[in-house]
Amino acid sequence: MKILVVNAGSSSLKYQLFDMDKGAVLAKGNCERIGIDGVVTHKRPQKADYKTSADFPDHRAAIECVLKLLTDKDLGVISDVKEIGAVGHRFAHGGEIRKSTLLGDREIEYLESIADLNPLHGPPAISGFKACKEVMPYINHVGVFDTSYYSDMKEEAFIYPIPYELYEEYKIRRYGFHGTSHRYVAAKAAELLGNRNAKIITCHLGNGSSVTATMNGKAIDTSMGFTPQDGVPMGTRSGAIDPTVPLYVMKKKGLTVEETEKLLNNQSGLLGVSGVSSDCRDVETAAENGNARAQLALKILIHNIRKIIGSYIAEMNGADAIVFTAGIGENDSSIRAGVCADMTWLGVGIDEELNANCPRGECVEISGKGAKVRTFVIPTNEEYMIALDTLNLSK
Ligand code: AMP
Repeated sequence: MKILVVNAGSSSLKYQLFDMDKGAVLAKGNCERIGIDGVVTHKRPQKADYKTSADFPDHRAAIECVLKLLTDKDLGVISDVKEIGAVGHRFAHGGEIRKSTLLGDREIEYLESIADLNPLHGPPAISGFKACKEVMPYINHVGVFDTSYYSDMKEEAFIYPIPYELYEEYKIRRYGFHGTSHRYVAAKAAELLGNRNAKIITCHLGNGSSVTATMNGKAIDTSMGFTPQDGVPMGTRSGAIDPTVPLYVMKKKGLTVEETEKLLNNQSGLLGVSGVSSDCRDVETAAENGNARAQLALKILIHNIRKIIGSYIAEMNGADAIVFTAGIGENDSSIRAGVCADMTWLGVGIDEELNANCPRGECVEISGKGAKVRTFVIPTNEEYMIALDTLNLSK
């Protein structure tokens, strides 16, 4: 079956077309600046990328553009839209939806009702779905939710120690994000370990970062919380801080809620501490050139990832593997080395050479000799996971 995976953002729509029988990506791309001055990039394996300006005032026009490209005489990879057997839609937030599901009116009504939990990603994802459904009403549409990997967490891991009524009334709880990525790399690691019940700590370190503990194939805890703001420091997000800090800053500086949200979401993390950039590569270059705040930003990042790993080893009474994935996790050997340094008492240790020479885009074990906890670098593939769920629900 051929499956189209759609990831709709506020002004973008990313797509990938999979041939699941061949396990191949036929084409992928991105419609950007929807409603502004559209640009579409269309990529096919072993062919030159195609990029052009396009007129898409809304998500419906963007999906029509995608279908046109996929079936185009020269740029296309299928001859008819009817070859697409199902569509998988990525949703960052599924609220209390516990697993990937066929999307019907009831599901969309529920997702609309929780839009204020996820104001940035929720409404565009719903618009993307509606647009696809209108254009392809005759096939299954499946929702895959970043939060659903965390549905099996115990209450003590997801209820915050604040008045319980806030959970009952507003569903304020830890949801966790990046679940599709953590699910994919944890499953790969379990396969490499030959143990479906393994205790695995997955570090998704990118512009947004989170760490998740998986045991017996289920997530038992994760660093992101009610929003993606919690946990480790990120490109521009603070990660976990004393919750009274924003209140104090609001009072001192007379900031509004929106200004404070911006401070924590867009002006903190690597950018906030270094004052250089949100991009880890830029911060590292500045650090190498002696910039003390850039050096500090990297130390804070490493320090906080290590603290979370340590807490998950305690929670699971051990760990079989640590996995690094996403932009920083897959490519940045110095962050990996920093995170895994001086943890020999816990049985963690990596091989410096293997770590430094890790080939891009491959699953690689970088464990040191005799390390009890094995360490892997595993490229994430959220789109494939979405396609797989879509296939399984469409058979
Ligand atoms: P992502 O959000 O997964 O795309 O990851 C973005 C982050 O990965 C940025 O902070 C980049 O600096 C970092 N990154 C991407 N490629 C590399 C690389 N080759 N070396 C170090 N960091 C990288």
